[in-house]
Amino acid sequence: MTIQHQARKRFGQNFLVDQHIISQIIAAIGPKADDNLIEIGPGTAALTEHLIERCPSMKVVELDRDLVSFLTEKFADYPDFSIFSGDALKTDFAQFYDGRQMRLVGNLPYNISTPILFHLLKNRTLIKDMHFMLQREVVDRLGAVPGNKTYGRLSVMVQYHCRVMPLIPVPPSAFRPAPKVQSAIVRLKPHRSKPSTADNEELLSQLVSHSFQQRRKTLRNCLRPYAEHLVDAEPEIDLSRRAEQLSVSEFVALSNHISQSIKSKT
Ligand code: SAM
Repeated sequence: MTIQHQARKRFGQNFLVDQHIISQIIAAIGPKADDNLIEIGPGTAALTEHLIERCPSMKVVELDRDLVSFLTEKFADYPDFSIFSGDALKTDFAQFYDGRQMRLVGNLPYNISTPILFHLLKNRTLIKDMHFMLQREVVDRLGAVPGNKTYGRLSVMVQYHCRVMPLIPVPPSAFRPAPKVQSAIVRLKPHRSKPSTADNEELLSQLVSHSFQQRRKTLRNCLRPYAEHLVDAEPEIDLSRRAEQLSVSEFVALSNHISQSIKSKT
């Protein structure tokens, strides 16, 4: 069963049509029958029709109601397949956890890819791995190292929680309609045990945001709101550096220093 579907820009619809790329993506995911597999934005089923062959109990979350109707009919012969009609950003993914860690996949709508990543990371302990198609530029930011101009809040916070593996570059010609940008598949694997652990993850997140708000300024300048907790941070942490020069573990050390100071003053 095929569909004549007019791609909707507001839903970020760029459908995969390149069968060679599709095969590479399926091979990278390596779906198994007993996986707890969830696809975000299945669209016209370019990936779904291959995933379901290997994992008939997979689930999908799709916002476009026309596509939900299409998918319901197309996969009517798969009794264990489930469709959740709605917005992935408002979906509580913990509901899909059934004792088996989730494997999340999707060619994500580019306009909401960063908020989706942060939304999913709330349930990181329930997730085995994630394979997503994103803008190449976002994949570069996810995997960036200190000193690189694309290194920023997204790199630090995602690398704090996950191992980032850029996998497959994908050109615009692999989609209909073709997007204006390059894309790439990335694998994100939440750490089982983190390389460094923040005492207070909310504080780490705020600190990283503050630090990158004005990239050209020194940490001492960016972190004025925390000044009273940074009095004796040096020499352990050199505050004359800029955020883009700090590794994830250095951000964690800074956050833990502030968190200890807050505790000692309360
Ligand atoms: N997986 C298909 C493919 O590779 O051809 C479609 C990918 S297309 C880039 C993005 C898909 O996500 C579309 O089917 C779109 O309707 C759906 N979508 C957009 N926003 C969504 C949201 N907030 N929640 C769930 N699905 C969404």
